[in-house]
Amino acid sequence: MELIEARSIFSPATGFILRGGFQWTCNPYVGCTFGCTYCYAAFLPQNRQPRDDWGRWLIVKKNAIPLAHKQAPKVAGQAVYMSSVTDPYLPLERRLMLSRGILEALLPVQPRLVVQTRGPLVVRDIDVLQDYHFLRVNVSIPTDCDVIRWRFEPKAPPLDQRWEAVRQLQAAGIAVGICVTPTLPIGNVVEFVKKLTNSAPAVLVCQDFHDAGGRFGADTGLLARRALAEFGWSETDYRDFVDRLRGQTPVFEGEAGFFPPPSRPGLPTRPF
Ligand code: SF4
Repeated sequence: MELIEARSIFSPATGFILRGGFQWTCNPYVGCTFGCTYCYAAFLPQNRQPRDDWGRWLIVKKNAIPLAHKQAPKVAGQAVYMSSVTDPYLPLERRLMLSRGILEALLPVQPRLVVQTRGPLVVRDIDVLQDYHFLRVNVSIPTDCDVIRWRFEPKAPPLDQRWEAVRQLQAAGIAVGICVTPTLPIGNVVEFVKKLTNSAPAVLVCQDFHDAGGRFGADTGLLARRALAEFGWSETDYRDFVDRLRGQTPVFEGEAGFFPPPSRPGLPTRPF
């Protein structure tokens, strides 16, 4: 782990985050120790480490919290995506509490905030999250089977812990999105469709794998695409899953599902 003094904790949104309607991204960490094999952040051109080492290094913005207090006014009332190229609830966050500190710093300026995570640790901060007026917590649950999950994201938390986080967040009155992104092979499509539908997420997003020749932001890692082939999961299987899901509940696909929470209660979920 490396500690750095960052110059800024809020960066202007780019790519699909910008297209989705966000103005800012917030990344307390650089790199991500969950190290998912399909992660587009591994392709970031500014990563100094070899791509094959993705998941084995982490840079911590040690001044993240004072920066967030100082820079919060510039994101007041605007749409912030936390986080775009790391996970804000990595295991180290339990001790460092940077994401929590940033949430506390942002509270007085009430941004339209999306917290994007695989980390059940997010429930630790329910007390802060509850005080946001325009918030959605997106939890990534890309399959129904831990054997499959382990093949693609061996260092990320087990699926039942993520479902438990969904349950606790919803019980606390927090809007929860579920991101089946990228959609991994699914063990029991019928049961998974039922579980997703019954969980009644505020937003449900699916996304197929795609090969863009290694371009950042558009690609799924080669290791993940190889693993996908091992499971015999195809584009047709993905389409069948999404069609079944769509028969039960609204589904967004790909970047169309990544947009900020509505700016006023009662507005439609999708702002445009
Ligand atoms: S948790 Fe997100 S940022 Fe981290 S490796 Fe997985 S996909 Fe990438």
